[in-house]
Amino acid sequence: MPELAEVEIVRRNLERWWIGRAAQEVIVADDDLIVPSSREAVITALSEPAYAAMRRGKHLWVELGPSRHALLFHLRMTGKITLEDTPQARFTRLAWLIPEVGWLCFKDSRRLGTLEHLAPGLITSSAPINKLGPEPDALDGPSLKLRFGRSARRVKELLLDQRVIAGVGNIAVSEVFWQLGLHPSVRPKQLDDDDYQRLSDALTSHFAQLLVSEQADELHYVNQGKAQNPFMVYLREGQPCPRCQAPLERMTFGGRSTYYCPRCQPARAPA
Ligand SMILES: [Zn+2]
Repeated sequence: MPELAEVEIVRRNLERWWIGRAAQEVIVADDDLIVPSSREAVITALSEPAYAAMRRGKHLWVELGPSRHALLFHLRMTGKITLEDTPQARFTRLAWLIPEVGWLCFKDSRRLGTLEHLAPGLITSSAPINKLGPEPDALDGPSLKLRFGRSARRVKELLLDQRVIAGVGNIAVSEVFWQLGLHPSVRPKQLDDDDYQRLSDALTSHFAQLLVSEQADELHYVNQGKAQNPFMVYLREGQPCPRCQAPLERMTFGGRSTYYCPRCQPARAPA
């Protein structure tokens, strides 16, 4: 599942390729991509010039005018949007031709992604966008603490809850917890004010660094083992901790894995 930085990279690409232009031709190769909207609504929207490529959390949409249609791209596990010379690129489910630019192809090998049309002007007042918490860089230590409130859930679960904070996923949690020496099972009442500030700073800089990284375009499919793993601990179970050389471990709650170092990230005493 792409996290904030990966989705932001797609957004920047769409901004470069698409804004100010309308699709000249549209090829729907897989009708199942377009749910729950109608194929006609999507084709009509694509016939108007795109004027904004937007992101909130892990969600990406494009607004098209003058009618202010919105197309919400759910990339899910393997969805990506690439610029191609041909609409027949492998795994293409939808292709639209941008004059003087090329074919934009929604490619998706596992076919879990969807493309949803939202009626003009409704995108930010509709689910899922209206349910999202603030972006990581909009929070500081005190405001993050406030959002956690008196919750008895684990810090990790709160960070993965998109209503609490938007855009954070398993990769960010593993990397940031390792950096701060936080055990995967730590709970809010075990954090002090300094911890909250460090956590907020580390989340912001985690995403900021990914976005300036040369490897930004490679981030996408690390989960599929097709790209080199640019992370310190994520997916590195059994490998030596980059800090202390102890073998890294993996801990799973509710099906979500956190990779961590048992030596650098000891459990804290109950608060
Ligand atoms: Zn270590």
